[in-house]
Amino acid sequence: MTSHTAKHSEHPDLAQRYAAIRQRLHELGGDGVRLLAVSKKKSAAEIAQLADLGQRAFGENYLQEALPKIVELGERKLEWHFIGRLQSNKCAEVAAHFDWCQSVDRMRLVNALASRRDPAQGPLQVLLQVNVDGEQGKGGAVPSEVVDLAGAVAAAPTLRLRGLMAIPEPSPDLRVREAAFARLAALFADLRSDHPQIDTLSMGMSDDYPTAIAQGSTMIRIGTALFGPRAR
Ligand SMILES: *Cc1c(COP(=O)(O)O)cnc(C)c1O
Repeated sequence: MTSHTAKHSEHPDLAQRYAAIRQRLHELGGDGVRLLAVSKKKSAAEIAQLADLGQRAFGENYLQEALPKIVELGERKLEWHFIGRLQSNKCAEVAAHFDWCQSVDRMRLVNALASRRDPAQGPLQVLLQVNVDGEQGKGGAVPSEVVDLAGAVAAAPTLRLRGLMAIPEPSPDLRVREAAFARLAALFADLRSDHPQIDTLSMGMSDDYPTAIAQGSTMIRIGTALFGPRAR
């Protein structure tokens, strides 16, 4: 307990930034928007500090970095979201240690996650990642693949389809991102007519979340604006 408290005083800005984002969300009419704290490159102590302030959901990109933190913080019953590029040989560990996977973008991953998730854990919550701006070399299914992927996730007893996620190209022109968010929101609305249970549209990061919320985001993924800049 004492070591805990000592560690907390190392990051006095965290509480302030957390309060500021929650306030901003409130001002934007986004009280119902979920805040995912993206904790890549951040320590278990910082995650613990945020958890003490009431934050439950954390996002990680790199499996080897995430696993020790998930184990160390295991007793806190946090909700872990895998948001990084995923390969099928990593699916067993994602299925075993995470509650959500937001970066599912091809059938191989659907099948691997579905077969590796232990039914006793309850279903893995799945978002399909969509490449909404056709940027080459980037993760994400093309929009025309989404219907088939969604059908496969919905049919797997160990998975639960929750919605869509996108990372628009980091254009300095916010209108370009706004258009990408609008395309994802339209795709989400279409998908919902076949899958009325879907409830999560994960879009918006530190520098564009107000725009994403205006376009219908239900979950924003915030790293830098919460934890400060990441070391490379
Ligand atoms: C790193 C990352 C974020 C957070 O980015 P910030 O700009 O630091 O808020 C959100 N989503 C994904 C998929 C990421 O990789």
